[in-house]
Amino acid sequence: MRFSPELQKSFREIVGKLGQRRASKLLRIVGGPRGPQPELGRRWREKKIDELQGIVEKAYLPHLKHWVDKNTRRVGVRFNRGRVSKDAKASEVRDRLTKRWGGQRHLVYVSFASAKRSLKVGRSDSGFGRIMSQQDAYYFRDASRVDVYFPKRQKKRMLPALECALTHLFPPYHYYQKPSARKYRQTCAACHAMKLVSKTARELYPT
Ligand SMILES: [Zn+2]
Repeated sequence: MRFSPELQKSFREIVGKLGQRRASKLLRIVGGPRGPQPELGRRWREKKIDELQGIVEKAYLPHLKHWVDKNTRRVGVRFNRGRVSKDAKASEVRDRLTKRWGGQRHLVYVSFASAKRSLKVGRSDSGFGRIMSQQDAYYFRDASRVDVYFPKRQKKRMLPALECALTHLFPPYHYYQKPSARKYRQTCAACHAMKLVSKTARELYPT
């Protein structure tokens, strides 16, 4: 994984601050230009770990995008304003895609409120049935577009990783349910690296 010089720099700066707080007792002996050194607190450390993970996630995004492009076919369904009622959008997705893709049982979908604002990332191993069962959910009702990703191969096995990759790429507006972490650990490269960050940082900087 390549980190850009900017991301490397931000990462190193945070690690430097963590180290300073970890050594606060020692640094206190000589004092500092800005008064006493603050100690390393748990909440502050967790905040810094979040920032480190954010940097790692950012570095992985191009890699995830490439992986998704290579391994899936993406089909977008756009809803013309006023032409499709709010409670018919899920069936509109099914109806428009069923001729070509009706036989595909494994898919991941992303619904968007606008070009950039994702509402929901979800997966199905029962074709469009799963989408239909959520017809009344706000993330279909409020959608202006739904993108459906069909895996090219290893269909069932790659679904969790695909859902996870798309969650990194298009963070849903209401992030109430993280894709189950255990399943993804081995398959999603970004989550793997982010977990390594938190594990290592907590070992190096106990509070
Ligand atoms: Zn992930």
